[in-house]
Amino acid sequence: MRTHKVLLIPGDGIGPELAPLARDLLQVLEDRGIARFEVREAPAGDRTLEETGEALPRETLDLAKNWADAVLKGPVGESARDVVIPLRRELDLHTNLRPAFTLPGVPAVREMDLVIVRENLEDVYVGAEYSHGDLAFALKLVTAGQTRRVARLAARIAKERSGRATIVTKSNVLRVTDGLFRRISEEVLSREGVEHEHMYVDAAAMEMVRNPRRFDVVLTMNLYGDILSDLAAQVSGSLGTAASANVGDVKAMFEPVHGAAFDIAGRGVANPISTIMSVGLMVDWLGYGGAYRAIRKAVEASLSEGARTPDLGGGYSTVEFYRVFKRRLEALLS
Ligand code: ATP
Repeated sequence: MRTHKVLLIPGDGIGPELAPLARDLLQVLEDRGIARFEVREAPAGDRTLEETGEALPRETLDLAKNWADAVLKGPVGESARDVVIPLRRELDLHTNLRPAFTLPGVPAVREMDLVIVRENLEDVYVGAEYSHGDLAFALKLVTAGQTRRVARLAARIAKERSGRATIVTKSNVLRVTDGLFRRISEEVLSREGVEHEHMYVDAAAMEMVRNPRRFDVVLTMNLYGDILSDLAAQVSGSLGTAASANVGDVKAMFEPVHGAAFDIAGRGVANPISTIMSVGLMVDWLGYGGAYRAIRKAVEASLSEGARTPDLGGGYSTVEFYRVFKRRLEALLS
């Protein structure tokens, strides 16, 4: 059995109270003979910045680059940008994955179960903005190579799900840049045998509120993906329970979508579902799809039996919810 090296960054706020649960979940998987994990912890975030003058110390980055197979990152406060952006670039994490699905008992606008596959390194996020007097403009960068990598990953995910994908751009206005992203994406999906359609981003936003069940895998550019992921999270009710993945060809990083939640830190009431789902996405990426599905089912079963932290209107503490989840998961894995 292979041993996977996991770098755990607890982060700020509620992060340090959630990190031990992530460790425990990996131990459960190990005890059930699914995989072996070697876990090391490293600092990053606001507290680290105060103590060392750096939000992302060199040693943490070195461990992520040269030791870890995957990074499990907790929420980070004000210094989030200084932690996430260098990790994304240095580990070459070309794609962002944001699953959004409804959970039992979690209020949602509409039922949905989709994954947004978002280009993660280019578009207007290259940060090339210029001004001259009253004129200001930004550079939008798209390359065929990067689009191809993202589209290939979308194809792989689509084949594991329904076999269909929706490409989202604004290629009627941005004919050259969005046009290139659309053309390459269509080529890759056709070659991979994935059924696909194209939608303009304005129509996609409307449809995601009106009839989200029509989407399964949404392949889109960096800026549109940023906006659509929050829209999907809000409509599915998963803003507080969602996790996301930043994936490259070699490495990947997994994190909860929520922030450091300083207002409830240290009170033992944080909802651990996004941390549990971060671990779920990581084991899925490492090749244990069955374990991911069991984790998701155990979360659903725990909510269905009424276990809920205060943010979902319940009275369970973080640890009490986790205990219910763990019992469910162990039953599913036995
Ligand atoms: P950021 O700018 O880092 O995203 P934020 O304050 O906008 O920070 P969060 O830190 O995610 O966003 O907090 C938003 C609200 O959601 C807060 O009231 C917080 O307590 C709540 N919240 C976030 N995560 C959780 C969680 N895991 N469990 C319970 N409540 C949470």
